[in-house]
Amino acid sequence: MNKVGVIFLEKFLYSCIFAKIMAQKEDQFKKVLSHAKEYGYIFQSSEIYDGLSAVYDYAQNGVELKKNIRDYWWKSMVQMHQNIVGLDASILMHPTTWKASGHVDAFNDPLIDNKDSKKRYRADVLIEDYCAKIEGKINKEVAKASKRFGDAFNKEEFLSTNGRVVGYQEKIKTILSRMGASLEKEDLKDVKALIEELEISDPLTGSKNWTDVKQFNLMFDTQLGASAESSMKVYLRPETAQGIFVNFLNVQKTGRMKIPFGIAQTGKAFRNEIVARQFIFRMREFEQMEMQFFVKPGTQKDWYEHWKETRLKWHKSLGMGDENYRFHDHDKLAHYADAASDIEFNFPFGFKELEGIHSRTDFDLKAHEEYSGKKLQYFDHEDNSSYTPYVVETSIGLDRMFLAVFSNSLVEEELENNTTRTVLKLPAVLAPTKAAVFPLLKKDGLPEVARQIIEDLKWDFNVFYDEKDAVGKRYRRQDAAGTPYCITVDHETIENNTVTIRHRDTMKQQRVHISELKEIINKEVDAKNWLTKI
Ligand code: ATP
Repeated sequence: MNKVGVIFLEKFLYSCIFAKIMAQKEDQFKKVLSHAKEYGYIFQSSEIYDGLSAVYDYAQNGVELKKNIRDYWWKSMVQMHQNIVGLDASILMHPTTWKASGHVDAFNDPLIDNKDSKKRYRADVLIEDYCAKIEGKINKEVAKASKRFGDAFNKEEFLSTNGRVVGYQEKIKTILSRMGASLEKEDLKDVKALIEELEISDPLTGSKNWTDVKQFNLMFDTQLGASAESSMKVYLRPETAQGIFVNFLNVQKTGRMKIPFGIAQTGKAFRNEIVARQFIFRMREFEQMEMQFFVKPGTQKDWYEHWKETRLKWHKSLGMGDENYRFHDHDKLAHYADAASDIEFNFPFGFKELEGIHSRTDFDLKAHEEYSGKKLQYFDHEDNSSYTPYVVETSIGLDRMFLAVFSNSLVEEELENNTTRTVLKLPAVLAPTKAAVFPLLKKDGLPEVARQIIEDLKWDFNVFYDEKDAVGKRYRRQDAAGTPYCITVDHETIENNTVTIRHRDTMKQQRVHISELKEIINKEVDAKNWLTKI
């Protein structure tokens, strides 16, 4: 074969491999969706009425996993920090809050409709997806070169010297900075022009027949009050952060907090997302876990770096693969920020934002001072001065974190006897049920002993009793539900109070005394053993 032929074949093979990886990822995501339903993690909201778009309910196991993630976050942010306290502000707030924060005027997404398919899209997402495709080409080049050069391959060097890759990177940079500048200037005509110049088509139909780009406000509103005359328009909060800002001085004074200090909060937020896809990744009703850290002006950059690192370590402490995280530092900053970065996670549909770390300056407190006419300043006893603190925010979507954990944990494993098993390898600290207890048979006093073990363990852990089907089948059910331990009571138990305890991931079984169970389970599920890795 001549050189051109070889290059063509190589290209063809790589595009086949790429297409296969994409298909596998799509397949994996479909499995995540059906597994979440089958094992009682997530249901579509009001399913009997065919559901409500981008709204989901957490089922019996889902609610436990979600609570454990929330607790893991709360423990690390509030309980482990003497200078961070919690708050639970209301969802409904005085409407001026949202005027001051800029949400009434600027919490918009640029939308665009396709005239042929009548489908609606976020214009910025169409452009970002176009760039993600170019990034896919870069990844392909990297994979090719890494194969060619083997151990001698230096990725950093390749990225900065390979002509084609450098060209791709520059193209992405040019597109994103033009989009950022146009959105900043509200030049929506140019956003449309960019879509047309790049020949971006409707992902579903391929049509390039687009409407103009328009701004769309994402806040849900409703009426507060019973009578038409006295009622007032209020909003469902689109972020939890503002509840913290308006309470800043209350908390600081009553808690006698000294700067630097933080206020943390978890709770529901609502956004009327234009395109809500990808399951619980983008919902219209979701939950956030946010912490606002108040610092002395001028120190915000250091704290911003500190929280970027600390939050990344928190993620990594769960052992879901360090390679699955990366930072994405923002070029285009929100109106309130002087630095911003996302922690992106490798979801089944690629790297996407999981958490945002923002240096929010004094924008919010100053705006609330201006709109409320109340002073929101801090008196610093150390240098006898008053100032408006700067804020560094860490903001993570609880549902997105759920999706990250759940999708990363779901694996199909080939076993030695040529069978497969589905295992949900949830980090044990987050697993909804920590142990399942089985009597080997439904007779000979075995169920009574198993139930007694449940009675003893339930004070410390969520435990589950199962006596139906053969033990092998019961193991498989618990593997798929994500339970780290299975305990089996058999005839030997009656003689000497020992049971077998089986580990979900290794499938190894151990004979132990009943009195040892609590310690064995605790070792694996105690948050302390996980959080000390931070
Ligand atoms: P995106 O760019 O994905 O719309 P964002 O930058 O608007 O997100 P933030 O306002 O920074 O998000 O919110 C903080 C976190 O809240 C995000 O990192 C994400 O985890 C979560 N989040 C935001 N919007 C949604 C949503 N519609 N559904 C689920 N989680 C969300």
